[in-house]
Amino acid sequence: MDLALAAVALAPGLALGSFLNVVAARMPLRRSIIRPGSACPSCGEAIAWRDNVPLVSWLALRGRCRACGGVIPARYPAVELASALLLAGCVWRFGLRGETAVAALYCLALVAVSAIDLEHRLIPNRIVLPVAAVVLAAQTALRPGPEWALGAIGAGGFLLAAALAYPGGMGMGDVKLALVLGAMLGRTVPVALLLGMLAALVPALVLLARHGRSARRMGIPFGPFLALGGVVALFAGHPLLHAYWSLAR
Ligand SMILES: [Zn+2]
Repeated sequence: MDLALAAVALAPGLALGSFLNVVAARMPLRRSIIRPGSACPSCGEAIAWRDNVPLVSWLALRGRCRACGGVIPARYPAVELASALLLAGCVWRFGLRGETAVAALYCLALVAVSAIDLEHRLIPNRIVLPVAAVVLAAQTALRPGPEWALGAIGAGGFLLAAALAYPGGMGMGDVKLALVLGAMLGRTVPVALLLGMLAALVPALVLLARHGRSARRMGIPFGPFLALGGVVALFAGHPLLHAYWSLAR
């Protein structure tokens, strides 16, 4: 039953992903996300509805604009696919409840932030601050207690300390993103932070192996790794936390 429901969620997930692509392309440039409609990132030509079907159109046109032949980056279908799978995952995991809406908002915000951070190396306040506030209020209303506020303060404080200790590494955007993670995950947020840091180590070590000492100046955006940790912790945080404690004992 829930699996069928989750499959139904794929279609609106693709549509939301398509909208997130518009947000990711325009918000860093401070352009309206409502008007005009979708346009080619190369030539600016408006994209007809039949070429604007999420995922399908990109595959049919082999990642190129029909008007100018310019490349439409793989980021576009990737954002659509990730949004669809995450929305379906939320419905599958949480069913049709208030928690599902909060989890979906959280996941979609992480997708948008990752896409923007990868391309522009910034995490917009206009996404993370309102999402952190909404998630904190919703979680506290759904499951009353200080867990969500403490999670946000703890995760934000931890990354703030890291950003102050290593100014070249993390930015204030990462600190604000940690607020979102903490408000959503509560006591399992350390799982997200730990997984995010471990995942970010992989490209950092690759850069170090390739470029030696000069790799220290090549920053890697930390947002997508935090987001990855945040998604894994949402779906598997409690079992991972229990596994960790039983190993530690
Ligand atoms: Zn074009």
